[in-house]
Amino acid sequence: MADIAIADANATPDFAVVIIGTGFSGLGMAIRLKQQGRSDFAVFEREAGLGGAWYANTYPGCACDVPSHLYSFSFEPNPAWSRLFSPQAEIKTYLERCADKYDVRKHIRFNSEIVEARFDEPSGLWRVGTANGETVTARSVVAGLGPLSRPAFPDIPGIAQFKGKIFHSQQWDHGYDLSGKRVASIGTGASAIQFVPEIAPKVAQLHLFQRTPPWIVPKPDKPISEKERAQFRRHPGLQRFARNFIYWFLELRVFGFVLNPKLLMSMQRQGERLLQKQIQDPALRAKLTPSYALGCKRVLISNNYYPALNRSNVTLHTIGIREFTANGLTTSEGHELALDAVILGTGFHVTDGVPKGMIFGRGGRDLVDAWAEGTEAYKGTTIAGYPNFYLMTGANTGVGHTSLVFMIECQLNYVLDGLKTLAAKKLKFMDVRPQVQRAFNQRLQARMSGTIWNTGGCKSWYFDKNGKNATQWPGFSWQFHRQTRRFDAAQYEQVPLSK
Ligand code: NAP
Repeated sequence: MADIAIADANATPDFAVVIIGTGFSGLGMAIRLKQQGRSDFAVFEREAGLGGAWYANTYPGCACDVPSHLYSFSFEPNPAWSRLFSPQAEIKTYLERCADKYDVRKHIRFNSEIVEARFDEPSGLWRVGTANGETVTARSVVAGLGPLSRPAFPDIPGIAQFKGKIFHSQQWDHGYDLSGKRVASIGTGASAIQFVPEIAPKVAQLHLFQRTPPWIVPKPDKPISEKERAQFRRHPGLQRFARNFIYWFLELRVFGFVLNPKLLMSMQRQGERLLQKQIQDPALRAKLTPSYALGCKRVLISNNYYPALNRSNVTLHTIGIREFTANGLTTSEGHELALDAVILGTGFHVTDGVPKGMIFGRGGRDLVDAWAEGTEAYKGTTIAGYPNFYLMTGANTGVGHTSLVFMIECQLNYVLDGLKTLAAKKLKFMDVRPQVQRAFNQRLQARMSGTIWNTGGCKSWYFDKNGKNATQWPGFSWQFHRQTRRFDAAQYEQVPLSK
């Protein structure tokens, strides 16, 4: 990054706020700032278009597994959703429409990946650099990096030798025709259960490699008729009611996930019944039966995944892969499979989502080093030693039971109030006190012990390398809302602008 010296302690930044990303987080932040009449911000987006995860993930069958009335901004209901669970293209279009309506596109710099953000203590400014070599300064940074934006590639011997086509689900190559091809697909998570039913009828042979069977329950999806959409258009209160109904219905699940996992048994029975009904072959059913409690990993919803596995051209492998060769792979039992293509449905870097060498706080400390003992933040948003830096969907803001957009909007409120506080108090920066962050996380982790994620008997990406659940919010989402309604400046070290 080009070095811009910020000698002047009262230097004026290029922007009051730099926002990273244009997913629900980054775009939401830009819109909320615009709603307040502000235009002193810039948004940096590494892709050529906006939408974050909903821009990047285009694999066949990609859709939301949270009802759209809730998986959208509270201030921007969309009466035009075509289904209860919208497909990816519709969500991307929704976000584009939001950007246009609030006129934020002109603030977005596309194809501009932020590669470094470095805090300069004397001036209290962040120096932010892009991969294109551009550098700007900002008083505050709001990082909407996305919890699921860095694909995880499996470290299987020989994978680089494979001469056929290989791609990750998030980087789907639509130019490659899978018709009639011999394909291996690795992973059976939320993405795979959506694309497997789409590609299974096209390919000659699909070898699906499963490490852990997911719990799957029926997807209560349905088209929203034109008549219903017209009602939502005419009576916005009706859509608000639908949203609130879904919110409180889903919120009930917290009793099972967090407070008493036994309450999830009825949902587990639903999963068992679906498997029973859709898979007749006892051997295949046994392979698909999880050995851990439902809820321990993300609960998946699908009506067409199991039926796809009944097809004669689909083979479910529960053994591992020993190595890849130029023309295929060898399983851990020594069987050789000739392949044309490999699809990696192997998920994302989540607990290690922030790369090393990107965010440097006070004293030049890399955030990855600050998190060596475990990923943590205060209210999932601010981090001691990283003043005026707000991490969207940060530590322990994940939710499996409801819409992440709800959590994002809570964070947006908190950040906005923080930005207002900074300006009103004429502060150079605010830095959450380390002991405040520690106490917050001690309380949070104490609530984890009885949750299904900790007691359900599975290994999941919810946990970081130190074995701490650094991703999930152990409570009702309205509790997070209550905690983030106002910025609590007293918990922060406050450094004034020099006179
Ligand atoms: P994922 O849920 O993390 O699933 C990854 C899959 O790959 C798992 O089955 C995992 O097995 C397997 N895997 C990973 N590394 C492997 C390796 N080295 N060898 C063999 N198998 C390996 O990833 P995802 O399916 O991409 O979904 C990620 C998250 O994205 C979801 O949990 C969800 O939050 C979100 N998502 C949401 C939607 C939506 O509709 N809103 C849609 C798609 C994704 P193990 O289980 O054994 O680890």
